[in-house]
Amino acid sequence: MKTNRRKFIANTVAGGLALSTLPSASLASDKKRLENETTVENRDKKLGEILKKPVLKKELFTSPVIIESLELLKYRNSFICRVRSTDGAEGYSVAHGSMSSFYPIFNQQLHDFFIGKDARELDLILERILFYKLNFRLNGIALGIPLATIEFAILDMLGHIAEKSMGELVGEIHNPEVPFYVATEFRHLPLTEHFEKIKEAVAQYDVNALKIKIGYMNYLTTDVHYKGLPGKSEKLIPMVRQFFGDDMHIYADSNGYYDVEGAIKIGRLLEEYKYSYFEEPVMFDHFEGIKQVSDALTLPIANGEQDHSFTNFRWLIANDGIDVVQPDNYYFGGMIRSIKVARMAEAFGKTFIPHMSGGGLGYIYNSHIVSVCPNAGLHHEFKGFGTHVPFECPTSPLKITNGKIKVPTGPGSGVIIDPDFIKKHEVL
Ligand SMILES: [Mg+2]
Repeated sequence: MKTNRRKFIANTVAGGLALSTLPSASLASDKKRLENETTVENRDKKLGEILKKPVLKKELFTSPVIIESLELLKYRNSFICRVRSTDGAEGYSVAHGSMSSFYPIFNQQLHDFFIGKDARELDLILERILFYKLNFRLNGIALGIPLATIEFAILDMLGHIAEKSMGELVGEIHNPEVPFYVATEFRHLPLTEHFEKIKEAVAQYDVNALKIKIGYMNYLTTDVHYKGLPGKSEKLIPMVRQFFGDDMHIYADSNGYYDVEGAIKIGRLLEEYKYSYFEEPVMFDHFEGIKQVSDALTLPIANGEQDHSFTNFRWLIANDGIDVVQPDNYYFGGMIRSIKVARMAEAFGKTFIPHMSGGGLGYIYNSHIVSVCPNAGLHHEFKGFGTHVPFECPTSPLKITNGKIKVPTGPGSGVIIDPDFIKKHEVL
């Protein structure tokens, strides 16, 4: 579909240039421009309507679920959120590791707003809280991580009340299993060591997909960290393909390292070696740049892990400048908000592959959101089972078999955090 679209755009641009020498050209190109604007406007309007549609299935609850208490518990570097209703229902979530930086935002900016609210109104609460104490000014992971932590605990509580998984509270199950790719790092290493580390990481799992890092770490590092490693990515890209063979799905992520010209150049090499998408080719908030790269390549373009606002996604989808949307379940502020991005993408035939960080229970929350998205990608981010949290999951072995894990089907998150571990924590 993308190839056809790109060809169509290429043809119309070429046609426009040929006509530009003729007197009627400006009229013709103006007409084309107006048609395109109308199309973008219409797409944007449709996206606006999608954002207004409710996500949480309120109909699963016959009576109010009033939030009586919301607590952040701390033990060493571990943060757990506990929410309780006036009827004695309880929910838990494990915070992202960065909560050690953001707990004052949880306690001072967000906590009070939830107390006394009906949890069935979670969609509305998540909108209104942006204006409470001017929280929208904290736009980014500073707001997203505490907000997502609270949302996951509330969904866990609601799931126990309705006897539904977190996924079932916000959608229909389309993917009872989630296929993974192994996300590799190591970009700071010289070529040979980097390549060896990729091989080691992939060998640990039964998978047929991986992601490699190319370039360095955003455009600000072009003259800082990358000295001495010129041309490494250009060598690594073919090496990885040749080693793993044609049956391996390989993704590449430059974390915004390139400018538009550089991204198109390295993107052509990724196309030559049949990589499956190019993630953050230029800086994540450079909308026009992302679209320019996308228009120049047939390779799908992915972006979104740094975003907290709907605006960037909406613009890129309306302007057909992106193929894979990647909100991070934590950074973006939880499942309900992330599902709205997935829905916008679905409406225009685009793929949803949420970003995730390693540690905690992130891969479990991610599995739930992937389970309910019909436009979920072929493979999803996986950074290992490593976690500081002792827990049980009665409904899934949480092991990778044939590249997939079974999504837990128990109520809420589907996992039971060891009560003795929770007891070690103190209310912060
Ligand atoms: Mg990334």
